[in-house]
Amino acid sequence: MKTDLELFSSIVAELLKDEKEHPVAQHLKAEKMFEIVDLDLSDEPMNEDAFKTSITELVTRTPKTATPAFFNQLFGGRKGKAVLGELLAVMLNNSMYTYKVGGPMIGMEQAILKEVAKMAGYPEDFGGTFAPGGSMSNMMGMIMARDRYHEDIRMQGVTKRMIAYTSAESHYSVPKNAAFTGIGRENVRYVNTDEQGRMLPQHLDQLIQEDLENGHAPFMVNATAGTTVLGSFDPIEEISAVCKKHKLWLHVDGAYGGTVIFSDKYKYLVKGLELSDSFSVNAHKTLGTPLSCSLFFAKDKRFLYDSFSSEASYLYQTDEDDLNPGKTSIQCGRRNDALKFWTLWKAVGTNGLADIVDHEFALADHAREYIRSKPEDYTFYSFDNSIAVCFNYKGISAKKLCTALFEQAELMVGYGSFGDDEFVRLVMVNSENSTEVIDQFFAKLEAFVEERPELFPEAHESANSH
Ligand SMILES: *Cc1c(COP(=O)(O)O)cnc(C)c1O
Repeated sequence: MKTDLELFSSIVAELLKDEKEHPVAQHLKAEKMFEIVDLDLSDEPMNEDAFKTSITELVTRTPKTATPAFFNQLFGGRKGKAVLGELLAVMLNNSMYTYKVGGPMIGMEQAILKEVAKMAGYPEDFGGTFAPGGSMSNMMGMIMARDRYHEDIRMQGVTKRMIAYTSAESHYSVPKNAAFTGIGRENVRYVNTDEQGRMLPQHLDQLIQEDLENGHAPFMVNATAGTTVLGSFDPIEEISAVCKKHKLWLHVDGAYGGTVIFSDKYKYLVKGLELSDSFSVNAHKTLGTPLSCSLFFAKDKRFLYDSFSSEASYLYQTDEDDLNPGKTSIQCGRRNDALKFWTLWKAVGTNGLADIVDHEFALADHAREYIRSKPEDYTFYSFDNSIAVCFNYKGISAKKLCTALFEQAELMVGYGSFGDDEFVRLVMVNSENSTEVIDQFFAKLEAFVEERPELFPEAHESANSH
């Protein structure tokens, strides 16, 4: 083990050096991957030197998500104290189903869940767990909503046409989960949004009325706190009123934006969260813990047990249900996803987590200010109080620009669309970044276009005509 840890340290040292020199990994064409990188497995063992060379190559050819040039996804950066927790979880290799096997790690996980539930305004008898990602957290919400609709469903399956409602801007896991849970993709209704991509409660009410008139069974609404593209927040209070009127379960998908509950300044964006029946939040997006770290909460823990517990005498041999969280999980063996969040939280304090969130909004403000200061070059698509900053530059197709920046190893940034518009989506999910990094992002992008008139004739023609 000791030699392997030394090897680990030396490979990590190479990686950190390489990240400084090449913030974006050299582009590796997918069709050349097996040719260029030594990926094949062999019958014979490898000697240590060749082994190290091979792994180091694999590591350094892998896209870099922790550098200041990575804005491609809703995660990024590397928080040292969180990585430390993750590495320790790997060393300990517990499974988080019983107190017998998890020991104080079970209490550590509960300490996190308790604090976050309190911030969300959930009662003391809430239920909570860590799921393998936001998509799975959303599925837990859907399963509970389905099971609450009628007590026979768990035993007899879905027999009615049950309908779920979500906004047109919500995450694609909602229809996927509808297929998984026996609801069916065609029984997901997409509610219209306003100009900022927020669900329209009146349209929701109208769709529910129509389904009721047609004899269907509306059972849940999925509201989004931080939509994947625009980063907008559905109006939870108004949606909750519609849910109460029709007796529907309300799940709030806060995978992306739910962490605003840590911030006094921005938690108004999830006003009414305490009215929901379940909600989820990812610490691996805006808070920078390593993947995956997804928290799921049910307002009433009895319902969590109803949907997820199964007796297993070979497993649950000691202690109370509260200390055996296997009974509220979709998994059997469950890795310790909580420790990395706990080590981070312990190190920076609750105020430090608030600072992370506030800083990301401040970075977004900085980017918006810059874009708005250059209306002749930039078309701006988003709005204040979102950490996604969406724009186009000099009329260049976002897809073309993002692909070229990636292939030429300059920047990793993605594009998205809303309505008929497609645009670059610059996301502020790496709190290690400073405003200088954001300035460099724009400087790099602009120089990239400037230096390539043959690739971007559209940008250069418009410049000449001025
Ligand atoms: C990222 C995201 C998810 C999915 O979370 P994973 O952890 O990637 O499964 C769900 N909903 C929203 C709004 C998201 O942004």
